[in-house]
Amino acid sequence: MVMKEIVAKHILTKSNLPDSDFVINPYTGCTHACIYCYARFMKRFTNHPEEWGKFIDVKINAPELVSRDMQKYKGEFITIGSVTDPYNPAERKYKITRQILEKLLPYQPEFDILTKSNLVLRDLDLLKKFKKLIVAISLSTLDPNISKQTEPFAYLPAERINILKSLHKEGIHTALFISPIFPYITDWKAVILKTKGFVDEYWFENLNLYPSIRGNILSFLESKDWGLIDKYRKIYSPISTYWEDMEKEIKAFCKEQKVKGTVYFHHNVSKKPVFETELVIRKINQIEAEIKAGKRKLVGREEAFKEYPELKGLL
Ligand code: SF4
Repeated sequence: MVMKEIVAKHILTKSNLPDSDFVINPYTGCTHACIYCYARFMKRFTNHPEEWGKFIDVKINAPELVSRDMQKYKGEFITIGSVTDPYNPAERKYKITRQILEKLLPYQPEFDILTKSNLVLRDLDLLKKFKKLIVAISLSTLDPNISKQTEPFAYLPAERINILKSLHKEGIHTALFISPIFPYITDWKAVILKTKGFVDEYWFENLNLYPSIRGNILSFLESKDWGLIDKYRKIYSPISTYWEDMEKEIKAFCKEQKVKGTVYFHHNVSKKPVFETELVIRKINQIEAEIKAGKRKLVGREEAFKEYPELKGLL
């Protein structure tokens, strides 16, 4: 793990998230290394050669920036932790998130904190002093084995559920962010039934197959041998109504269970079959590795097409 202290220019930045106007990210990078993390695009902006999950930049001056940046704040909604976990292990030492909260206290902003870590409980004394705060824990499965594969360094689902219980007991408004919903894997109904006694509201987000994570998701599905790849291809095809149908089902179930639920589904679909590009990239990598290892001589284009017809049109 590469950990570096950096000096940030701003700490309150405009948000692209629905229902949130500004974001605060006390760190860049996230040690949980979730395979579905869309925030890995941050790597591009930071010149980190390390993989996503293997670096963390500590915005060492972030607390000092709060008062200045809050001058542009006019009662809008703030999210803490949109592209990092503000309670990642570095927070134990640096306490940047805690210091930011101390600085935010006089403003009493309307905000939420997104985390998968029980370190949030360390700051209960402070959290209780905010009047319009939601602490949201995200979860995509109740199964510890799936979680170990998809969110390798995050707290296990049962531990995250305990965090919600503790927060609720202390009078903190809690949200369970069921995200991402993996088709045929995430049993969101079971999650609601297990937690509704201590969760004030539920948020739902579907698995969005961004190009940057498709390779990870494909490897995960292959490792499971559950025959899901073809099912995912159908779900992510332009004619599928899978997510629209699920959205209706979620709303009906929340109503039936008398719980508050908000659906944040993306409906972006690719015109190309969803995993094709990844399969071709793999094939190209395999050819290159074989050439490097001396197992294969450089193949001519036509020869390559004969052997791997799926490369046609892509090379
Ligand atoms: S906890 Fe959130 S920010 Fe961190 S790796 Fe997972 S999805 Fe990304």
